[in-house]
Amino acid sequence: AKSQGRNNFCFYSAALEGGVSERLRLEVELRHALERQEFILYYQPLVEVRGHRVIGLEALLRWQHPQRGLIGPSEFIPVLEETKLIVPVGEWIMHEACRFLVALSKDFGRSLRLAVNVSAEQIRHPGFARSVERALLASGLPASVLELELTETLLMDHTATVHESLAALKQLGVAISVDDFGTGYSSLAYLKRFPVSALKIDRSFITDVAGGSDDRAIAGAIIAMARSLGLGVVAEGVESESQARFLRRWPELIVQGYFFAPPLPPAEARIRWAGLWTY
Ligand code: C2E
Ligand code: CA
Ligand code: CA
Ligand code: CA
Repeated sequence: AKSQGRNNFCFYSAALEGGVSERLRLEVELRHALERQEFILYYQPLVEVRGHRVIGLEALLRWQHPQRGLIGPSEFIPVLEETKLIVPVGEWIMHEACRFLVALSKDFGRSLRLAVNVSAEQIRHPGFARSVERALLASGLPASVLELELTETLLMDHTATVHESLAALKQLGVAISVDDFGTGYSSLAYLKRFPVSALKIDRSFITDVAGGSDDRAIAGAIIAMARSLGLGVVAEGVESESQARFLRRWPELIVQGYFFAPPLPPAEARIRWAGLWTY
C-alpha cells in the first residue's frame, strides 16, 4: 500500500487488510457510490518553481461517505481496481475533470493543464482511449491540455491492449507522464518505447532534498536525464520552504505539494487559484 502522508483516512484499512465482512461491505458500498454521486474530485495545483505561477491542476479522487465522511483514495482504489469498478468510476473521473477544467478556463480566460491519474486496470480495458476521446468531445477540452499520469509498472506491461491504448492516446494528442518516478522498475527502456512527455519525481526523493542527502543526488540525476531526453519534470510532495528554495536551481521544474497548496474541492479550488494564478 502507498503511504498517504497527511491525508490519513484510515477507516477502511482493516477491510483492506483482510476482514472478510468489512471488505465485502466496502465493495457493496463502492458499487453504489457512483450512482449515489458520492465521489468528488479535489484539485491540487502544479506551479512553476520560479514565480509560483499555476500552470495546471491534478485531479485527486475522494469518497464523500454519507456516514463516515471524506475517505482518501488509498483506502478504496485497490478495491475499485480488483473489482474493475475503476473502469466506470474512471470514466466519471475523466468526464468530471474535463468539464471542471473547461468551466475554469472559460471563467478566467486562460487554459490550464489537467493531470488525471489512470490505473493499470483502466488502460488494460480495450475501450479506454475511446472513453477518453468521448470525455474530450463532451467537454470541449482540447486533447493537448490533458495529461494522463501512469505508473512505471504499467509502462512495463507488454500486452497488446496496453500498447494499443497508449498508441491510441498518442493519436488523440493526449500527453502521458510517469507518476512516482524512481519507485518502480529500474529499467528505463519504456522511455524510448512510449511517448512519455514528463516525469513526476516521487515525493520520497523530495523529502530530504534540502538536507544534502542522497535524495539531492537522485533528484539532480533524474532532472538531468529528463533534460537530455527533452522531458518535463514535476517534483511532487514539496512541503517546506527550504525544499522549494532548493528546487529553484532547476528553473524548468514544475512543483506540487502542501507548501504551495493542498488538494481542494472544486468550489474552493476555483476561488483560490483561478483568479489569482500565483502565490
Ligand atoms: P499520487 O498520484 O502520487 O498523488 C499524490 C498524492 O500525494 C495525493 O494523495 C496528494 O494529496 C498527496 N500530496 C500532495 N502534496 C503532498 C505533500 O506535500 N506531501 C504529502 N505527504 N502528500 C502530498 P491522495 O489524494 O491521497 O492520492 C493517493 C493516490 O491515489 C495517488 O497518488 C494516486 O495514485 C491515487 N489516486 C488519486 N486519485 C486518483 C484517481 O482519480 N484515479 C486513480 N486511478 N488513482 C487516483
Ligand atoms: Ca499522480
Ligand atoms: Ca505521484
Ligand atoms: Ca505517490
